[in-house]
Amino acid sequence: MSHVKRQTVIVGNWKMNKTIAETVDFIASFIPLMKNSAAQILLAVPYTAIRSAAESALDTDIFIGAQNVSDAEEGPFTGEISASMLIEAGAQFVIIGHSERRRLFHEDNQLVNRKVLHSLKDDLYPIVCVGETLKEREAGKTHEILQQQIEESLKGLSKEQMEFLMIAYEPVWAIGTGKSATPEIAQEAMLYCRELIAKSWGQAVAEKIVILYGGSINVENAGVLLEQKDIDGLLVGGASLNVETFGQIVNNQKINIVRK
Ligand code: PEP
Repeated sequence: MSHVKRQTVIVGNWKMNKTIAETVDFIASFIPLMKNSAAQILLAVPYTAIRSAAESALDTDIFIGAQNVSDAEEGPFTGEISASMLIEAGAQFVIIGHSERRRLFHEDNQLVNRKVLHSLKDDLYPIVCVGETLKEREAGKTHEILQQQIEESLKGLSKEQMEFLMIAYEPVWAIGTGKSATPEIAQEAMLYCRELIAKSWGQAVAEKIVILYGGSINVENAGVLLEQKDIDGLLVGGASLNVETFGQIVNNQKINIVRK
């Protein structure tokens, strides 16, 4: 079903790693490593490092973003940060509904949906994460879970809004485990996500939307995953923390493939 050429996108998710000084050092070393990459490169850094990261990445093709956002605009929500605050700090995108937020901080699809709508209202570009647990996969429930996550997390979005976000398929069993999904498993699940989008928002939206794979990406497996038709890019956790490793991933020769 993929007829449109979609840009390859590589996102680094630093999680709760790197100080401001480490962020500035990383970006300074990374700029010469990424300058020949054809990928669109995004870095999701800790809140405290957004401003410095954005300044360090000025005049480069690196986009800086956050790893979470509140669903509220302002008010008595101790510890929360709104989309407009992230934009003011220099963020251009935000990861929403990462499995660590769903599992450790009890975020459900309804909260993810409110966060997505809030971010879109403020022009903060969401990357919406979906993915099944091992138990759900073994019980044959992968499609059911993906359907529920996509339909509920993206509820009420117009076709136009669907063109202003990405989806990340991250099987929970592959995140931080060193056990990546095989290219076949990832492709099958991601084609299913695209078909679900076609059903709700139409074929044109489904063909344009960028869907990323995430889960134990490393220098060795990045290329074979990117060869798959419906894998438009990668969401990289652990392997994005080391500048040389991340540099090798963004320069993978499969990044320039033309998707037909
Ligand atoms: C992630 O944090 O989204 C992720 C995929 O982590 P890792 O690459 O370390 O599995």
